Amino acid sequence: MHERGRRGRKLGVMGGTFDPIHHGHLVAASEVAHRFDLDEVIFVPTGQPWQKSHKQVSPAEDRYLMTVIATASNPRFSVSRADIDRGKMTYTVDTLREMQSAHPGAELYFITGADALASILTWQDWAELFDLAKFVGVSRPGYELNIDHLQEHLRDLPADAVTMIEVPALAISSSECRRRAAENRPVWYLVPDGVVQYISKRHLYVPGAAEGS
Ligand code: ATP
Ligand code: MG
Repeated sequence: MHERGRRGRKLGVMGGTFDPIHHGHLVAASEVAHRFDLDEVIFVPTGQPWQKSHKQVSPAEDRYLMTVIATASNPRFSVSRADIDRGKMTYTVDTLREMQSAHPGAELYFITGADALASILTWQDWAELFDLAKFVGVSRPGYELNIDHLQEHLRDLPADAVTMIEVPALAISSSECRRRAAENRPVWYLVPDGVVQYISKRHLYVPGAAEGS
């Protein structure tokens, strides 16, 4: 694959809580990168996730480090601290604005699972989102790839504003990984080996373990 000039670069942006990052995230990013011939996929762990603020979320630094560990071996994967360092609740529109200014002239592809795409209309400034990036919705076991309710809004947008693609089905969720870790059941092979070891080293998801210990 040839390198494009800086301006014409095609960059995937994969936002997520990544608490923890798992193979479902990695397969989705890899498949979209291949299908859209992306130069790079930037994983962007959320700051305080606005749709999850009622729940307990692991410290941003732990989620960031697990994302780095999981992506380190792939030369086309990188991790951005943008959302974490903003220090506010994360809105996708802010993430994309920041990615645009950090990578001027790049073409952005926001990668999102079927479940997250379904709630796109609840996102802030959703109309502006389509000016900032193309959206790629990936299949996810247990969720319908359904954008019918978006059709009315998509009518005025270019045909490639939202693309739905099938990726190899991995019925893995971070919630299930956390539950397993909490119950001392294995998370091996659901998350990369280094992430298994990091979870154990930091006692993440262990009920009663002091946060930040
Ligand atoms: P949680 O259970 O805590 O919500 P999660 O597994 O959904 O965690 P997130 O960090 O919320 O992970 O997801 C980040 C993005 O990755 C979202 O767009 C989500 O739809 C997508 N995603 C997560 N798991 C999968 C999977 N197994 N297959 C495809 N996409 C996925
Ligand atoms: Mg989720």
